Amino acid sequence: MPELPEVETERGRLAARLSGRRIASARIDDPRLTRPEEPEWIAAALAGQRVESVERRGKYLLLRLGSGSVLLVHLRMTGGFRYEPATHERAVLEAEDGTRIAYRDLRRFGTWLLLEPDEAEEHLSIRLGPEPLGRRFTTPFLAGRLAGRRAPVKAAILDQRTVAGLGNIYADEALWQAQIHPLRPAGELSADEIEALRRGIRAALRRGIRRQGADLGDGAYAGGRMQHEFRVYGLAGEPCDRCGTPIEKTRAGGRGTWYCPGCQV
Ligand SMILES: [Zn+2]
Repeated sequence: MPELPEVETERGRLAARLSGRRIASARIDDPRLTRPEEPEWIAAALAGQRVESVERRGKYLLLRLGSGSVLLVHLRMTGGFRYEPATHERAVLEAEDGTRIAYRDLRRFGTWLLLEPDEAEEHLSIRLGPEPLGRRFTTPFLAGRLAGRRAPVKAAILDQRTVAGLGNIYADEALWQAQIHPLRPAGELSADEIEALRRGIRAALRRGIRRQGADLGDGAYAGGRMQHEFRVYGLAGEPCDRCGTPIEKTRAGGRGTWYCPGCQV
């Protein structure tokens, strides 16, 4: 499931091909992608439009169009853009220079929403907290979001209103970095631990972006290299890089969770 680093990688690749260019034609084959709108209607609205910019907010991609409207894309489980013919294609855009841009989605949970600019802002502001790599993601903000919560800290930081774009992989990596046990009640973290957590989240996401995300071998994010640098995610039984204790797997917030019982307290 793509998280902030994978979506940011998708953004960069899409922007390089589409930003500043016109969409010559658009075809959407899967009505689930655009519902409740008709796919033909969305395709017709996209065709001929210039893409002013391709941006990211949390795990969403935003294509700002010449008309002022915004195509808000959420990749969910397995969505992604491809520049060569791919299996499970659900839509195809052609740029004015002939570049073919396919949207593939094996499990079909991805969504394309065409919104007016203020609708897009509202849609996102209800669902998302500040960007974790931006200036508004401060220790006081994070402390305020965790205060009084008995939920495990792992579950608390998966809430997109707390950390926009964080998902299961990078949450585990961030908690390892911060040396915090994933099942600690969120409201019991000290100020120093919250600061360490904020730094850990930013460090894990930045590393993921530099490695162009994680390729988990399912073909969704081919080319990413972050999977070679996981410290805990998926590594049950392997020795911790910091203290040598075998990594353990548990569950937090309904998600598989990996941590080091030796140095995450
Ligand atoms: Zn350890």
